[in-house]
Parts: sequence; C-alpha cells; structure tokens
Amino acid sequence: MRGDADVVLVDGKVFTAARERPWAKALAVRGDRLVAVGTSAQAERWRGRDTALVDLRGAVVLPGFIDAHAHMADSAGERGWTRLDATRDLADAVRRLRKAAASTPLGDWVVGIDWDEAKWPERRFLLREDLDRASTDHPVVARRIDCHLGSLNSKALELASDLAGTRGFEVDASGRPTGVLTEDAFGEFHRRFEANEAGIRRGLPAIARMAHRLGITSIHDVVTRAGWTAYQRARSAGTFRLRVYAMPHDSMLAALVNAGLGAGFGDSWLRLGAIKVFADGSLGAYTAALAAPYVGRPGERGILVHSPTELRSILTTAHRAGFQTATHAIGDAAIRLAVETLEAVQDAAPRKDARHRIEHYELPDDEVLRRTKTAGIVASCQPNFVGQWSGPGDVYESRLGAERLAANNPFRKILRMRIPLCFGSDGMPYGPLYGVHWAVNGFFEGQRLSPEEAIRAATAGGAYATFEEQEKGTLETGKLADFVVVRGDPFEAPDQIARIRIASTWIGGECVYN
Ligand SMILES: [Zn+2]
Repeated sequence: MRGDADVVLVDGKVFTAARERPWAKALAVRGDRLVAVGTSAQAERWRGRDTALVDLRGAVVLPGFIDAHAHMADSAGERGWTRLDATRDLADAVRRLRKAAASTPLGDWVVGIDWDEAKWPERRFLLREDLDRASTDHPVVARRIDCHLGSLNSKALELASDLAGTRGFEVDASGRPTGVLTEDAFGEFHRRFEANEAGIRRGLPAIARMAHRLGITSIHDVVTRAGWTAYQRARSAGTFRLRVYAMPHDSMLAALVNAGLGAGFGDSWLRLGAIKVFADGSLGAYTAALAAPYVGRPGERGILVHSPTELRSILTTAHRAGFQTATHAIGDAAIRLAVETLEAVQDAAPRKDARHRIEHYELPDDEVLRRTKTAGIVASCQPNFVGQWSGPGDVYESRLGAERLAANNPFRKILRMRIPLCFGSDGMPYGPLYGVHWAVNGFFEGQRLSPEEAIRAATAGGAYATFEEQEKGTLETGKLADFVVVRGDPFEAPDQIARIRIASTWIGGECVYN
C-alpha cells in the first residue's frame, strides 16, 4: 500500500541535476522524501484527499543548494560585530568602527569584519594608527574579508604583546608593530575575541533564516569545538533546519580519533565530516603559497602553514583513522604540495574512495590537474571569488599579474579533466546563485561553465563530496525532498543568474522559506 503524497508540485520546469533524466515537470513529496519526479500526470497520481497541490506555473525548480565551504557557525557568533564589506574607502571603515566604539562599554572589544582594501581607492591595509582614530579606549580589531589577516589598534596590540615574534606579527623597519597580524599570530589572537558556544547558538536561528532565503539546504561548515558543540545542541533541540556536514579544525583531530569518533557519524541533519587542514594562507594577505613571487614583492612567495612533514603527518593520522580530509590550498605551490602529500598518504595506506578534498584550489596547473584526477581528489571551489576578485585590477591581478591572472579558478578545465567539483561560498558572500552566476559568466574561458554544469557543482557536487550522493543533490525518487523554486530562469537568461531570487526553499519536504 502506498500512502498519498503530502505535497504535489505540478507544471514546473524541474532541473533534477541527475545524469539520466535531467529534466522533469513535477514532484510529489511524502514525509521527507521525493516519491515521484516526472510529468505532472505522474506526480498527480500521488494526490489524495489531504495532499496539498502547488501549481508551479512554469517556475524553475532546482535541487536545494549545498554550500560546500561555509563558516556559518562562525558567522552565527559574529552578531554585534561591525560589517565593513560595503565601505567606500578606508576612512569610511574607520568611521563605522568609531560609531561602534561609541556604543560599546569601555574596555570591551570593538570588532570589525570583512573589509577588503581591493575595493578602496587607498588600496592598502588598515594600520594601528587608522584604528586608533576609531578608539584608544577600546581594543579594536578589524578582520580582513579572507580571515587570514587582522588589523589592531594600540589598545588591542597591548593584548597581543605576548605574540611578538610569532610568525605573522608584522613590525616596521624600526621593529615597531604596524598593527597587522596574519596567519599564526592572527589565528592565535582570534581566540581572544571570538564567540563562545553560547554566542554561536544564539546566532544560529538568524543564520538559518539567511540560508533558507538564499536557497541553501545543506552546508559543509568548518567548525571549532564551540561550533561543533553548538550544532549538536541545536540538533538535539531540533531547531536548526539546515543540514550540516561539520568539518572540524585539525586541532580537534587527536581528540576525535582518541574518542573513537569517525567520519560520517551523525544523521542527515548533522554529520561529522572532513578534517580541515591549512596548507597555505590567502592571496589577499600575500600568504597563499606561490611557485613564483607576488607582483611588487620580490622574493615573497607566501607561506606554508605547516611544514611538508607536519602536513603529511596530519593528513596521515586523519586518513588512517578513516577520515576524509579537506586541505585549504590556494596558491599553485600549496596545491601541488597538497596533491603530492595526498598521493603519498594514500599510497602508504590505500583506502578505497577516500574522496579527500582540496578547498579553494584556485591556481592548479595542468600537471597538478591530472594528478588530482588520478588521486581521486575532490576540488571544492568558490565561484563567487571570480565575481569578487577576478576582474580588472582586482586581487588576482594585483597579486599575480596579468600573465598568471587568467589561470585562476579554472572550473572548465577541472570538469573537462573529470575531477569531482563542488561549489561553496566561504561566506564571501553567502549566496549560491551569485556563485553560479560567476561560474557561468567568468572573465576567462577556463572559468566558464554551462548553467547546468554550474548548478550541478552547487548541488550534486556537494552531495558527492560528503558521500551522500544516494541521499541528496539531485531530484530523484527516493531522495530527500530538498529543493528550491526560483523566480527567473538560469537556463534561458544565463547572464542574469545573479539577479534570480528564491521563491521557496524546501528541506526534507518542509517549506522553510516562502
Ligand atoms: Zn574557509
């Protein structure tokens, strides 16, 4: 006996993202699953007396978006911080921080986030003197959009004095701190002002609402212990309606292994996922590891966060414990090192279908692309970076120069090599359709995909990257009823994808946004 569907949606234009039968017109949903995907007549057969009927009137339906690289737990803890991403110039950023300081109790932190000097006429980082103009009574820290660099005022520098000498603690020619901290120094300093578990938990409902509005139904979220704990509590309470594949920071690896916890533990709402490891930094902070120096900085090729031996040891521990790994590697030298290390790790302890991932994967060369394919590595990319920083005079060009510029984010080459590709945002900004837009309308031929390919990477690609391709990522009978109805047609007007809004978002058969 088959029961009736809870909801039947008919007369739509459904892109299923499946290899076979990529198009359909209707869906039937019962419980949290799709029970029919096909013609309107096929879906209507599931209609009973209590079945809700939705006439899509030709609207486009897509699988729910999977943001394969998110920091939503971190974002949840950032409520009350001052956003600087829409600032006109450096002075505007300082003005906003001064305003924030005016309403902050003396001695409390003033935290600004997401400034990007590439968008300012000054084209330079914030320095301690700039931030001293915001306040000398509060510690002020302003984090660059890439999270790999932060600027501190004098008061905050007092709280960082023990970090002098740490890699990334910048001083001028006379040895005086400039206020700029990157990588190791900034990472260590960050723990002193970031939100705790309770702060993250308070922010999660607003984060879920944002995700639903953007059509996101699943995330691969990089977590610290506080974020992981917050997600577990939210899962127990059943209050966070977003599927989370949590990617713990490698500092948690030993504890996870000792506790006997393994990859994939959890359920369709919260799962323990890949171990996140940093190979290098970011292009914006001049810390992504390049084979040849940065433009205008002779001799500077960025940094490796871990020595090759250390990186191999971390990846080996995770791999042998059965974990998937997710290595942050942006520069060509870092990507090469990550691929070579993963080859060696897998050769020493072969494991079927490990699906190790490289996050960002912005500058792979042709040889590395081939080896990535052979090693079965997943490329986890951020097409929104193309829109944000690949244009004339922007970050990729200013750091790499005209010659290396066109090689950034070669999504088309990645797919032609048949490397598994998933798309995420890294939260810069969140919004899968913005990313899809730039994967379709990139500046360089090597970046450009068809709308179908780009949407697959933002849906099915993410499901493959978490071993959940049998459960979600495509709209097929038996899979989770995670889908979005959109206002606009990405296939008919591919140059307008960024303007498309979400009409409704459905997770596990439940309409969470309308
Ligand atoms: Zn990230």
